[in-house]
Amino acid sequence: MASTQDIETLKIQFADFLKRKKYRSTQERYNVLDRIGEIDRHFSADELYLYMNGKSDRISRATIYSTLDLLTQCGILMKHRFQGDSAHFELAIRMPDHDHLICVECGRIVEFREEGIDSVRNVVCNRLGFRPVTHSLQIFAVCHDPLTCEHNTQD
Ligand SMILES: [Zn+2]
Ligand SMILES: [Zn+2]
Repeated sequence: MASTQDIETLKIQFADFLKRKKYRSTQERYNVLDRIGEIDRHFSADELYLYMNGKSDRISRATIYSTLDLLTQCGILMKHRFQGDSAHFELAIRMPDHDHLICVECGRIVEFREEGIDSVRNVVCNRLGFRPVTHSLQIFAVCHDPLTCEHNTQD
C-alpha cells in the first residue's frame, strides 16, 4: 500500500498536470487517487468502480475511466494490457522495473524482478544504438494446476 505521504506527493503532481493541461480539478479525481493508494495490486477500471462504490463513494464509471486516463497521461499510473479487453493499472511508484507473468487459464498475475532481463535489455539497446530507459515484459504461461489454483476466479 502506498503511504499517505506518497499519495500527497502524487496529488501535487496531479494538480500541476491538470492545471497545465487546463483540465478541471475536481475533488472526485483526488478521491480516485486516494482509493488507488489503498489497493496494493493491479486493478481494472471495473474493479476500482466496484471497490469505490463498496466504500459508498458514489462515483460514476465515466469519471473513473476519465480519471484513470488522466493519471496514466501524467505518469502516475502504469497501464498494462495483459490479455483480453480490459486494461490493468498500478501506481508507477509501487515497484519500479518489474515484469509480469500472466496465467492464460485463470488470469492470475505474478510480479517478478529478474536481473538477467535487465542485461538482455541493455545488450539489445547497445547493439541497436539505443539508450535503455525502462522496459515491460509479459510472460504468458499456465499455472501448474489451473483447476485447483486458488487465484482462479473463473466459474
Ligand atoms: Zn492459472
Ligand atoms: Zn505490476
